[in-house]
Amino acid sequence: MDIRFYNTLTNREEIFEPLDPPNVAMYSCGPTVYDFAHIGNFKSFLFSDVLRRFLELAGYNVTHVMNITDVGHMTDDDVADATGEDKIAVAARKLKEEKKSGKLPDDVALNPDDPYQVAQYFTDAFVEDARLLGIKVAHDYPRNMPRPTEHIDAIQVMIQKLLDKGHAYIADDGVVYFSVESFPEYGRLSGNDLDQLIVGSGGRVLEEHQAIKRNPADFFLWKPDPSHIMKWPSPWGEGYPGWHIECSAMAMKMLRREVIDIHTGGEDNIFPHHECEIAQSRCATGHLHFARYWIHSRYLMAEGEKMSKSKGNFFTVRDVLEGKVTGRPVHPSVLRYELIKTHYRTQTNFTKKGVQDSASAVQKFHEFGQGLAQAANGNATEVGSDHPVVADFLSALSSDLNISAALAVVHNWMGQEVDDPSEALDVFGKINSVLGIADVNSSESSDETDIGEAICKQIDEARISKDYDTADRLRQELIDAGYEVRTAPEGTVAIKQLA
Ligand SMILES: [Zn+2]
Repeated sequence: MDIRFYNTLTNREEIFEPLDPPNVAMYSCGPTVYDFAHIGNFKSFLFSDVLRRFLELAGYNVTHVMNITDVGHMTDDDVADATGEDKIAVAARKLKEEKKSGKLPDDVALNPDDPYQVAQYFTDAFVEDARLLGIKVAHDYPRNMPRPTEHIDAIQVMIQKLLDKGHAYIADDGVVYFSVESFPEYGRLSGNDLDQLIVGSGGRVLEEHQAIKRNPADFFLWKPDPSHIMKWPSPWGEGYPGWHIECSAMAMKMLRREVIDIHTGGEDNIFPHHECEIAQSRCATGHLHFARYWIHSRYLMAEGEKMSKSKGNFFTVRDVLEGKVTGRPVHPSVLRYELIKTHYRTQTNFTKKGVQDSASAVQKFHEFGQGLAQAANGNATEVGSDHPVVADFLSALSSDLNISAALAVVHNWMGQEVDDPSEALDVFGKINSVLGIADVNSSESSDETDIGEAICKQIDEARISKDYDTADRLRQELIDAGYEVRTAPEGTVAIKQLA
């Protein structure tokens, strides 16, 4: 079975052949922890997760690293030389203002003067959201989620290498820049050429450091700045590294390879971030490749529009889970399904209706799995990847991660008669190892049932003592918490709804 992915570097689908099978070294650009990540960010992280889980089901041994950027990611990250201000510095200032004006909740014991606390605050939030959504690398945290502030040595070694080889230079402002003209293939990933880039920068780059740079598109590797909130000593002065060099250095260090198999990210990472990663990495190592397959997911729209804070359609994971978007709490599996159910290279539109559809689909899948587990007494009989349903599922995903086709296989299978529940239970487990939406034996769901049961008992007690106000209040509490409440002959029953 050939696996094919669309490689942004070559603009076509290619057969996937890792350098050292069955091992796969994969790097994904993670969040910059200056704010809560929104569901569009998570669409990209979930795509990487599904990709990794699929490769694992297909028999590969995947080492997946996703970074957490806590320094050096600048506010103007869309222009060629990524200028502006450090996003963490901006966040610290904002939190300070919020603290002063009492906007920051009292339970947040956070000192905005300490950028490490700011970064840790949003890192914790990210890891919690990512765990809820079942992103495997988050369960690995902090092992495979490196932060540049912990790898300054590796970053500095790489910068020195680029200086030694003449691919970087120290300009009159003391900043270490990468020379884009020293790498003739600069622009290949994004389909830009240097002349276009200079024109395309619209003077924004030209104004600032133009006079001292060899080319306006040269981007910084190290910025000496003793006044910056996070700084380290270096041969080029006390300062901090640039965002691009961080990813290159951490990918190679954590994956222990100079050439990795897969690099993923959102489409907004293609330029300049990934273009710059390729340039620095290849110039530092001298290899023909940094990552052999560059796979990018398209961004998410919300209710037909690009997400933005000003339009009010900018949603975080917690907004959705708490019911701020749909009016009722959403189970994390439903949000996961909603964000993975369309092909990663198509534009996905996040809507209330879509979440409702996902809730029914997840509920159906979940109940089907529970039914199989009961029928098979919890005993799964292992099937091979040549089992027709598993083979069809894998084959769909092998075609550039065609999730719609893979889900069609699953829905078709669920509509058929089950011959052997034990085998079917294993098939279910294999499918779920990629989708990650059903937890048939989850302790979490039994906890939820316990909470539901406990309140139902209180409702029945209130009813017996004719305290109908309390009974109604408790009933409403359960509904608000996402339960369907029924009155059965044996008493009140609460069923946890998935959305
Ligand atoms: Zn990156």
